[in-house]
Amino acid sequence: MNRSETVDLCVIGAGISGLSLAAFASQQLSVCVVEQKDRVGGILQTKELGEALFDEAANGWLDSEPSVEELINLMGASSSITPANTEGATRFLVKDQQLHPLSPKLLLRSTPLLSWWQKIRALREYFWSPALKGEPSMAHFMRSRFGAGIIDNFLAPMCAGIYADTPESISVRAAFPNLWEMAHSGSIIRQLLARLKDKTRKTPHLTSMKHGTSQLCSDIAKHLTDHGHSIQTSTSAERIVYEQDKWTIYTSNGVIKAKGLAITTPAQPMANLLSEHFPTIGKSLQEIEYAPVAVVMQTFPIEAFSTPPRGFGALLSRSDQASGLLGILFSSHLYPNRCPQNVVMTRSILGGAIAPSLLEQSDADLEKVALQAHRDIFQCPNLSPLQVHTVRWDKAIPRYQVGHWQRQQQCHQFHQSTPHLRLSGNHLFGVAVKDCIRIGKEHAIHFISTLS
Ligand SMILES: Cc1cc2nc3c(=O)[nH]c(=O)nc-3n(C[C@H](O)[C@H](O)[C@H](O)COP(=O)(O)OP(=O)(O)OC[C@H]3O[C@@H](n4cnc5c(N)ncnc54)[C@H](O)[C@@H]3O)c2cc1C
Repeated sequence: MNRSETVDLCVIGAGISGLSLAAFASQQLSVCVVEQKDRVGGILQTKELGEALFDEAANGWLDSEPSVEELINLMGASSSITPANTEGATRFLVKDQQLHPLSPKLLLRSTPLLSWWQKIRALREYFWSPALKGEPSMAHFMRSRFGAGIIDNFLAPMCAGIYADTPESISVRAAFPNLWEMAHSGSIIRQLLARLKDKTRKTPHLTSMKHGTSQLCSDIAKHLTDHGHSIQTSTSAERIVYEQDKWTIYTSNGVIKAKGLAITTPAQPMANLLSEHFPTIGKSLQEIEYAPVAVVMQTFPIEAFSTPPRGFGALLSRSDQASGLLGILFSSHLYPNRCPQNVVMTRSILGGAIAPSLLEQSDADLEKVALQAHRDIFQCPNLSPLQVHTVRWDKAIPRYQVGHWQRQQQCHQFHQSTPHLRLSGNHLFGVAVKDCIRIGKEHAIHFISTLS
């Protein structure tokens, strides 16, 4: 069916970036969301298999961003908020196939993760910190402050866990703006200690929804349609034109006319839409690379473990990343309601920019890598899964490589010159769900103030 629709605001892309923007804007504007897939949510998907609920990408978001709670309240879905069980949710590091709990106490004890000399070198940052210049890589920035000792066992696992990338590639200014901000006042250690002492500061808590992370998107979609806004799924935006103070969005299903336009697709479709009228920003976005990731979700009988995994999960030190496994999340400890009580559920994250070629292998091969790691790390040589569910994301995580901060500046300037167009999505100003929502709200406020 070829249809035509006129609205205040058209949002292209129904991932969390687009849906949150649409939801906030819908309080005062008429909104139409266009999504090329037959379902909303983008990367945020949850699959129910038997008695298990598998989050196929994100397994939650930190509640440190007030706009997330605001969004959920707007949906009337606050009773569905499910905080993760963080009791005893220690984070572990796997080094030489052994689990090492991570805690500040490591600084006081002897540990194979950091020698005494490396600790002294790292703590020197309290008294001495180099000047901030340009756009360094995360590795360069941290090495100059804390010494090289922290790179392989702390920084590389952290960058793999958040960005599925290496500290040598990542731009600290673009990917960890809070860290850069802290470094502005001198010592990062001093800033962290001050935060710990500040009793008014809430510790961020991992949170999800009763029916998994995808519920956030399905609740927003329902809220929008219940309030008379439209969501066109199985509809691809193909061309945009701005004439006489109005956007015309040509889609695979017809035409939409709107006073404001938000594009929230991944970088390449966004670049394609912009290339006709805005070739400079289009070219810059076209260059954004993505890290591919496979998520292998497995359940096991609890009695198969001598000590069942308890904690948040484990990241792998650089030397242990050789198999292409980057981390294992202990999902059934974090969200006990996601599977029966006598079952252990884990999520293994594989590939990334660290081992992209791993994704050329079959699902069975990826599952073998994950299973072997479980057998080695938990010392259960006969472990075998009850259920396995594997998902591949070819364009999982946008790479915030050195140079991305410059692109972010270019994007800010672009927004200033095109007030009726906003660009959003996890490839621009933060990959975390909470960042996508924060930016969504900022853009919605902009549209409400300029269009209504
Ligand atoms: C394995 C994995 C684990 C993660 N874990 C976490 C976590 O624990 N916590 C956390 O905070 N974040 C996590 N993330 C990141 C987070 O899930 C994503 O960054 C976020 O969901 C991206 O949302 P988005 O809306 O920006 O993009 P997307 O979800 O990619 O949405 C973009 C949408 O645009 C649509 N689209 C594309 N082209 C067109 C077109 N031409 N016309 C119409 N529609 C179009 C797409 O179909 C898609 O639905 C994880 C990501 C992955 C891959």
